[in-house]
Amino acid sequence: MAGNTEPLPPRAKLAVTAGKAAAAVSRAAGRGSGSVIGGKVALKLDPDLLARLAQNLDVVLVSATNGKTTTTRLIAEALRAVGPVVSNALGANMPAGITAALAGSGDARYGVIEVDEKYLPAVARDTTPKAIALLNLSRDQLDRAGETRMLAERWREGLSGSKAVIVANADDPLVVWAASSSPNVVWVAAGQEWKDDAWSCPACGGVMQRPGDDWFCGECGFRRPTPSWALSGDHVLDPHGSAWPIHLQLPGRANKANATTSAAVAAAFGVPPQVALERMYSVTAVAGRYDVVSYQGREIRLLLAKNPAGWLETFSLIDPPPAPVILSVNARGADGTDTSWLWDVDYSRLAGRPICVIGDRKLDLAVRLEVAGVDFQVCENATEAVRQCPPGRIEAIANYTAFQDLRRIVGN
Ligand SMILES: [Zn+2]
Repeated sequence: MAGNTEPLPPRAKLAVTAGKAAAAVSRAAGRGSGSVIGGKVALKLDPDLLARLAQNLDVVLVSATNGKTTTTRLIAEALRAVGPVVSNALGANMPAGITAALAGSGDARYGVIEVDEKYLPAVARDTTPKAIALLNLSRDQLDRAGETRMLAERWREGLSGSKAVIVANADDPLVVWAASSSPNVVWVAAGQEWKDDAWSCPACGGVMQRPGDDWFCGECGFRRPTPSWALSGDHVLDPHGSAWPIHLQLPGRANKANATTSAAVAAAFGVPPQVALERMYSVTAVAGRYDVVSYQGREIRLLLAKNPAGWLETFSLIDPPPAPVILSVNARGADGTDTSWLWDVDYSRLAGRPICVIGDRKLDLAVRLEVAGVDFQVCENATEAVRQCPPGRIEAIANYTAFQDLRRIVGN
C-alpha cells in the first residue's frame, strides 16, 4: 500500500521545480496551462522522474481508442471514496503531461492516469500500476486498421510481465488478444458497437465468427473469455451476480460501459460497486464534452467524435429526429490531414433530421453526406449554422480541433 514516506531525491526535486517554472513561463506567454512543456523540462532533467513520482502512489492506468478521458474521470471519482486522488484530468496523456500532473500530486494516495495508446507499455513500465483498464482498440483518424493490430501486439508484449490487475473488455477481440498475455485479468462485458477492426483473428488472421454477442476464431480457437463483470441494460452485474443501477449524467451506452469498467477497477481497490456508481453520478461534463451550452438563445450540446468508432457511438446517443444536428470536421495536425475516414462512418443513420455542415472540411463532409443520401445544408460558420437550425436542442458533433473551435465560439 502506498504512503508518502519516500522523499524525492534532490535531482528529482530540482526537476519538479524547473518543470513548474517552465510551465509558469509558458502560461504567462499565453500558451495554455503549460503543463506539457513543464513535464518535458522536468523529464529532461530527471528521466526517472515519472517513476519516482509514481512510487508513492497506487496507480491506475486507463487506455483505449475511445472513452479513456471519461473513464479516467469516473475511476478518479470512485476512488475518492477511499483517499485523495491525483489525475491528468484534462487529458494530457503522454509521458510529459502525465509527469506534470503527478508533480502536483500533493498528498494523493491514488494516481488515476489516462495514457495514450502508443505510450501504454512505456508508462506501465515506469509507474508499476496496481490496475490497468483497457476499453477498446479501433482505427483512429491517423492510422488504418493494420496499425491497430500492431498496437494490440505492443500492448500484449508490454503487459506480459506486468503485476497489475488488467481490467479488460471481453467484447473487443483486439483488447482480449492484448490482455491475455497477462496472468491477472478481470474480464468485463462492456460491449462493442464498432466491429470493423476485428473481423480477422488477431492471433492467427483467420476469419472471426460473431454469432450474437459472442465471438470466436473458427481456425485457432481464440475466443471471447467469460466475463466476471457485465453491463446489462442500465445495470452493472458484479461477479456475485448482483445488479447495481447506473445513474449517470453523461449520455449514451458507451458511458454506461465506461461506468461498468470503472466499477470493476474500483472494486479492485475495495470500493463496493454501489458506492463507486453513486460517486460517478457527480460527473457532468469531461473536458467540455457533453456540455450543454446556451448560445444565441439556443441550447447546444457539444459532442466530440474523433474517429469512426467515436462517431458511431455518438450517433447512438443524440436526441431522436427531428432534433437538429450540426456537424463540424477539420483536418489539421491533431485531426489527421486525410479525411478518408469519413467513408468509414455510416452517416445514413442521421437521415430524417435537419443537418448543418461546417468546419474547414465541410465540403468533404458534404460529398460524403450526398453519397449517403442524407439531406443537409452547408453553412459558413457555427453562428450561421445555429441560426439555420429549426427549434429544439441542437446536437453539435465535431472532431478534435473542430470541437475546440466550436467551444471557443459557443462555449461560456
Ligand atoms: Zn485465430
